[in-house]
Amino acid sequence: MPLLIQNGEIITADKRYKADIYIEDETITEIGENLNAPEGTEVIDASGRYVFPGFIDPHVHIYLPFMGTYAKDTHETGSQAALVGGTTTFIEMCCPAAHEDALEGYRLWKQKAEGNAACDYAFHMGVTRFDERTEAQLREIVADGTGSFKVFLAYKGAFGIGDEALYKTLTLARELGVITTAHTENAELVAQMQAKLLSEGKTGPEWHEPSRPEFVEADGVHHFATFLEATGAKGYVVHLSCKPALEAALAAKKRGVDLSIESVIPHLMLDKSYAERPDSEGAKYVMSPPLRDKRNQAALWEALARGDISTIGTDHAPFDTGQKAMGLTDFTRIPNGIPAIEDRVNLLYTYGVSRGNLDLHRFVDAASTQAAKMFGLYPGKGTVEVGSDADLVVYDPEYQGTLSAKTQRMNVDYNGFEGVDIDGKPEVVTLRGVVQVRDGQFVGDRARGRFLRREMSG
Ligand SMILES: [Zn+2]
Repeated sequence: MPLLIQNGEIITADKRYKADIYIEDETITEIGENLNAPEGTEVIDASGRYVFPGFIDPHVHIYLPFMGTYAKDTHETGSQAALVGGTTTFIEMCCPAAHEDALEGYRLWKQKAEGNAACDYAFHMGVTRFDERTEAQLREIVADGTGSFKVFLAYKGAFGIGDEALYKTLTLARELGVITTAHTENAELVAQMQAKLLSEGKTGPEWHEPSRPEFVEADGVHHFATFLEATGAKGYVVHLSCKPALEAALAAKKRGVDLSIESVIPHLMLDKSYAERPDSEGAKYVMSPPLRDKRNQAALWEALARGDISTIGTDHAPFDTGQKAMGLTDFTRIPNGIPAIEDRVNLLYTYGVSRGNLDLHRFVDAASTQAAKMFGLYPGKGTVEVGSDADLVVYDPEYQGTLSAKTQRMNVDYNGFEGVDIDGKPEVVTLRGVVQVRDGQFVGDRARGRFLRREMSG
């Protein structure tokens, strides 16, 4: 059925105007004033509402075997939670372990998502080793439309990649015109500092941050940037958490390294005192890089407002309280992650735009447009134009509410932002022309999501 979204205020990364949007099949076919609706058109009144392009979360984990367990969301629950929160596309980390076959892993991740996702999705291909076989497989994966890699400098012995493999991965990435995303913490330092703290009887979640301090992340950023410089490859630092790491990244950009920066919503909103809460409470707030000293937050918000931080993702990785308890007597065994796929957009809108820390257009840019541009989805995704996919968020900026595990759609038994106020909410969300969320509730097609083949910029 054709769809007409009337009287809304369209907000993109660089435009703001009132107009109607007409949608046929999956695509925006007309934008203008007082558009007529042919018979049989579904009309949505967006008076007093913003109409944003569907938001893109560039960093999520859905299927995630980690530390001997699995993250709680499935593609079904994770994608519906994403949509309710205004996210119409996510890019999932495909993370086979180092001993596993890259291509088999890739097929497994795709198969998990296929037919189970309510929103659109793509993957960053995790590279955990590099031999002749891997190289041929990565070429095949890129040819399949997955044009971005993910490397971990952290997680020694699990996902972590050595320097030789890093160099070869980036060299291939350069040749293929593929961007490489990186978790930048020095693995060896983390391993040594974890062992030292544990040997001193410092075993609780409050020791997670001291085991991987800010300078360890800054070193990781510098190291990654050096390898980008040597290979001429394009890089993207994921979940940058602190001022020293930001300074390392900006220094690299200044000397001409092609490097972009992502931060994630937990680092903008939460600080390390959450992980210092007693008993199992602290474990809920363990992720890597860790939540930092609060003084870092202002630096991140300012860099975001300036555009030095390009994108805001989540690093969504939901483990419930029972799984977090696996590490109660050894913080290195706490599964890492803070769930946020559902709350990213509302938190960024509230504590950015509504509270005066972020321009409305920069908000759309950081939560949608930049990710679309960087990862080969633009202009199908990331904007509101004739010809773009009709992924739209009719957003109520008057809504007042509070986040809670009791009302969330994410399949996990806590919310890291429990009790936090929000000043806005998606009312209607469409995915390629189909209403997936109405009155803030998921009402749509559970299998509408499709795998996005991406174009490489070369
Ligand atoms: Zn991650």
